[in-house]
Amino acid sequence: MTTEQVPILGMTLAEFIPVAKRHGMSLFTAQTLYRGFHRRGEVQGGTFPEWISDARRPIKDRHVDGETVKFTMALDDGLETETVVIPMRHSDDTTTRTLCVSSQVGCAMGCRFCETAQMGLMRSLSAAEIVAQLHAARFMIGDAATGSPGYPIKNVVFMGMGEPMDNIDAVLTAIQVITDRNAYEVAPIHVTVSTVGRIEGIRRYGEFISQTGFHRLNLAVSLNAPNDRIRSEIMPINRSEPIADLMAALLAFPKRVNAAICVEYVLIPGVNDAQEHCDEVCALLRPLRCSLNVIPYNPRRGSPWPAPEEPRVQEFVARAIANGQFCKRRGTKGRSAMAACGQLGNENIRARKFVELGDKVGDKVGDKERVQIRVVGAQNAPEVA
Ligand code: SF4
Repeated sequence: MTTEQVPILGMTLAEFIPVAKRHGMSLFTAQTLYRGFHRRGEVQGGTFPEWISDARRPIKDRHVDGETVKFTMALDDGLETETVVIPMRHSDDTTTRTLCVSSQVGCAMGCRFCETAQMGLMRSLSAAEIVAQLHAARFMIGDAATGSPGYPIKNVVFMGMGEPMDNIDAVLTAIQVITDRNAYEVAPIHVTVSTVGRIEGIRRYGEFISQTGFHRLNLAVSLNAPNDRIRSEIMPINRSEPIADLMAALLAFPKRVNAAICVEYVLIPGVNDAQEHCDEVCALLRPLRCSLNVIPYNPRRGSPWPAPEEPRVQEFVARAIANGQFCKRRGTKGRSAMAACGQLGNENIRARKFVELGDKVGDKVGDKERVQIRVVGAQNAPEVA
């Protein structure tokens, strides 16, 4: 991309129009081009003018597990994004689809139960690369059942690879495009950003949703433990941003009518699934208006823990409800395609990272990067290190 090129996938119509006018395009043509591309996946004449960069990338792999579809897109630097289309069946027999997008390639957070953590952080995605995942789901991956080029997407959740709050500028820009009425028109109430509990990011997101038009965006927080001792064992971030700080940030988050924070709790056998853990979590969450979302653990590659047995999951949920906590159990989808929650992450890229970085360490990698490699790699991927 030359410096003059503009990334149409990472721009709202309001941002695109003045740039288009500077390149001599009329208002009508700019609107037609923008809407045709984002709404219908069309590029008039087959190619963009040279000042527009096309961040659409080829679909590399497509794995189907039932109606769940995981797909990867090849990026220019050889890395890949991973995205999952998840069907949601409703009581009236209709189906809507949720898109789980990645905000980074890999992740630096190192949660021990997560496949992505095994990669470490490769890099953050641009806003255009995030929106490209939605564009591909709608217009590029193909739906064999209907013959259409992609799927209608009702919900977008930032729960794929990466910690969205560590790439907050790109994530907020992407949300503006995803919700733009001239583009994908996903209602803000159907967009959720999920964080491991990055406090500064929660504050920034809170500021953003205070703006007109965005107050119905959702926040999900990955808690996963009833206390600091267990949380620090499975989520290294807790050592620098402990539960008390996280709770203070959540209590300060803007309160909205009909919108509760979603607290996610990955239920791991023998780690955080005891009835006393449930009581402790419910007591912790009592001051907060939130929904507790229990997610049965999906074993990552080389996992030290199995998936929980169904009766244990049900007991945990029942105990939370008996404690007066609004609680739901998340259904498991896509486990056999490694597309379920916590299972994203490309083991080939991960293996290549360790080879490439190993070479570079011998060359001229700075101390900062070397420290990150050691911390992320050794701590979270013992079977690789
Ligand atoms: S659970 Fe989320 S924050 Fe934690 S390592 Fe995985 S992708 Fe990163």
